[in-house]
Amino acid sequence: MTDADCIFCKIVAGDIPSTQVRETERVIAFRDLYPKAPTHVLVIPKDHYANVAELAAADPALAGEVLAVAAEVAAAEGVDGPGWRLFANTGADGGQDVFHVHFHVVGGKPLGPMVAA
Ligand code: AMP
Repeated sequence: MTDADCIFCKIVAGDIPSTQVRETERVIAFRDLYPKAPTHVLVIPKDHYANVAELAAADPALAGEVLAVAAEVAAAEGVDGPGWRLFANTGADGGQDVFHVHFHVVGGKPLGPMVAA
């Protein structure tokens, strides 16, 4: 399941380069091109789902795999001790720019409050 216009589908296909840090049969993790913290990795299902709600409704097991890979990435990056943040921006108010569901794994420094006041 791919979307020809989706930048993350192109990363999955290898048509756009990325710095991959982990891969399973159905999930990949790669470094964010514009990192907001020392560790900033995106974890995505290879199949195209626009957002968390679509993924969870269509394939909850795959959603769980994505979360498991996110935790593996945090451990591999060494941020599981000091702490890290996992989030999936969703929709316009959520600040979602790329409409292929992705979880941000962010850490490596104190991250401050969860949202701007
Ligand atoms: P969001 O705003 O939650 O949709 O996050 C999209 C993220 O994708 C941003 O943090 C971007 O920096 C990141 N991004 C955009 N294009 C690329 C790319 N080609 N490779 C890696 N990360 C990217």
